[in-house]
Amino acid sequence: MDIKEQLLNLTPYQPGKTMEEVKRELGLDKIVKLASNENPYGCSPAVQEALIAQLSKSATYPDGYARDLREVLAVQTGVGEKELIFGNGSDEVIQIVCRALLKPGKNTVMPTPSFPQYKHNAIIEGAEVREIPLKDGYHQLDEMLNSIDENTAIVWLCSPNNPTGTYIKEELLLEFIKKVPSSTLVVVDEAYKEYVTSEDYPVTVNLLKDYPNLMITRTFSKAYGLASFRIGYGIANEKLIRLIEPAREPFNTNSLAQVAAKAAVGDQSFIKDCVSKNKEGLEQYYAFCDEMKLAYYPSEGNFILIDFQTDSDVLFQYLMKKGYIVRSGKALGYPTCLRITVGTKDQNAEIISYLKEYKMKQAI
Ligand SMILES: *Cc1c(COP(=O)(O)O)cnc(C)c1O
Repeated sequence: MDIKEQLLNLTPYQPGKTMEEVKRELGLDKIVKLASNENPYGCSPAVQEALIAQLSKSATYPDGYARDLREVLAVQTGVGEKELIFGNGSDEVIQIVCRALLKPGKNTVMPTPSFPQYKHNAIIEGAEVREIPLKDGYHQLDEMLNSIDENTAIVWLCSPNNPTGTYIKEELLLEFIKKVPSSTLVVVDEAYKEYVTSEDYPVTVNLLKDYPNLMITRTFSKAYGLASFRIGYGIANEKLIRLIEPAREPFNTNSLAQVAAKAAVGDQSFIKDCVSKNKEGLEQYYAFCDEMKLAYYPSEGNFILIDFQTDSDVLFQYLMKKGYIVRSGKALGYPTCLRITVGTKDQNAEIISYLKEYKMKQAI
């Protein structure tokens, strides 16, 4: 069979071992996963009630337009209902944008290390990928601008950036977007937006009216605690949304996901509470890093990238044996770092004590 050439160089997503498998193999009583930046507090209690009411309606197709969710989300984000597009996770929104805009002869500019799906989807569409290294964990916006040309269809910004947790300040974003040609789409991935507490983080939706070549992607997988349902969204001006909509499958988001997301949006006090606990959790890690003289990036997300100056896979294995699954930096472009999702206060304290123990042993 004649498979698309670009697929031959890609590897399928490698699912890690399930938590149950790890638990059994290592003979552990408990295992905590802090590897994918999920919410350690779960989701709003309002979600469960909404789901139960929806369960009896499982025989019918979902609303392909996600009207109910669209309505509440438009109000909550302060945009028009027609300025939203929903995806099976924001992963799918990224895929839809790539399908709609990329093809051989076009190119796309992105930061690296950053979220891998920008590149993955661009390769499938046969577009050229231009990766601009981060500098000290931050986007090199000038370099990114310099590599845009008349064939650049999409430029990706990730803020806060995964895996560094760093963000793009308002004035820098403005300066950047002003200089991007109107024929290039700027996508700002705001997967961790809810967690941001810095005052100079931009209200990106306010730029939509001046920049028709701007799109924002967000997700219910992180702060909203709904990763298993797979639902995320994109925001852009009405015309752009209309133009890319045909690249979306008609029933891409399921009814349970829509209902769960709607209930979750309705409970902003849950989000507020998680954000403040997350901030305290980050402070636990900062204090640990400062004490142990470990380099890290100040994070605006619910995760932290710490440089342990050691083989990250070895440290990953060590923590797994203690019952904690974190993310080794090796596959993320930081081979001596771990990316740790901020857990509950007790989980953070326990991980930190294990890491201290490890460093002590290393020092001997
Ligand atoms: C987790 C994540 C996403 C994707 O989330 P979905 O679960 O597909 O909605 C997108 N971008 C970044 C930067 C992420 O970390």
